[in-house]
Amino acid sequence: MGFATDAIHIGQEPDPATGAIIVPIYQTSTYVQEELGKHKGYEYARTSNPTRAALERNLAALEGGRFGFAFASGMAAINALLTLLKSGDHVLAGHNLYGGTFRLFERVLTNFGLSFTYVNTCALDQVQAALRPDTRMVFIETPTNPVLEITDIARVARIAHEHNVPVAVDNTFMSPYLQRPLELGADIVVHSTTKYLNGHSDGVGGAVILNDSAMAERLRFNQNAAGAVLGPMDSWLVLRGVKTLAVRMGQHSSNGMAVAEHLAAHPKVKGVHYPGLESHPQHALARKQMKAFGGMLSFETGSLENAKVVLKSVKLCSLAESLGGVETLISHPATMTHAGVPPESRSRIGITDGLVRISVGIEDAEDIIADLDEALRH
Ligand code: PLP
Repeated sequence: MGFATDAIHIGQEPDPATGAIIVPIYQTSTYVQEELGKHKGYEYARTSNPTRAALERNLAALEGGRFGFAFASGMAAINALLTLLKSGDHVLAGHNLYGGTFRLFERVLTNFGLSFTYVNTCALDQVQAALRPDTRMVFIETPTNPVLEITDIARVARIAHEHNVPVAVDNTFMSPYLQRPLELGADIVVHSTTKYLNGHSDGVGGAVILNDSAMAERLRFNQNAAGAVLGPMDSWLVLRGVKTLAVRMGQHSSNGMAVAEHLAAHPKVKGVHYPGLESHPQHALARKQMKAFGGMLSFETGSLENAKVVLKSVKLCSLAESLGGVETLISHPATMTHAGVPPESRSRIGITDGLVRISVGIEDAEDIIADLDEALRH
């Protein structure tokens, strides 16, 4: 079946008890057993819950993976994944990860004996050079936030696999509709479902999807042992969101392209980062590994003052962190999402004080463009 069909149906069969077409929210902490050792497959809701199980099956299918695990947030998912490693292990990571991921790695997991090296994973020689005998995972994000740099997933996987190292890809910015890392050779996909998968800015969640059954068993054990599971109501919200993922991502992508092209031609805009533009340095790679280019872009206003004026003047675009919802959000990476990144690292990555990021929503593209035009007039 096609992606849109799978998104609507896998894991979401009519409820066997009532025929309800929508998976019920099983808001329960425990399950009554018929007699000692005889139950219906569910014993306690931290271990498993039918609503969460439906979502886990659905997300695994959409990423083309065998096993899915849903967590209380994207960070909880990434943390759970890293519990598969042990003290003394080394992780090779992208140099421009989501700030919360960098914070978890550097400020929390280093305390447990994990070590991290950060390289520009777009440069394959840097990946090759930074792999060590104790490297146990490569962790990348592509495209990166907010300058939309692209890493060649297939080639990174090939290099890592020569050293028997698994590759994890944070696919939050793309969603499985636009990019399927497992098909490109990656071993693990992580998501903040808070973003495009849920899509409606009304829940926080995360997921890990993978194929290796031994790794999946350990993750299942650790998910239950540590317990940062996604609740049934939030699982249901993501299931509801995923049903429209294909149409939403199509619209995010066409609106993203329209806004990017418009900004690129605007006399007050000094540059636009969007992988769909032919001017993007990795446009050819983006075409190869992504189905379309998504709704995330950033543009250069030239100064902090100019950025402040734009952010204050927009009316339809909402000034807020986060991304991936149906509504257009606008933000200032240097002082918001990337405020914790030291200024020299920010400038190395290309996050200037004049850079503005947009999570282009699915409103009418003309309205988003008119709002930005008006803000840029000031
Ligand atoms: N990964 C990426 C790429 C993100 O943008 C975020 C949040 O912004 C996360 C992970 C963390 O997800 P959550 O906020 O759901 O914990």
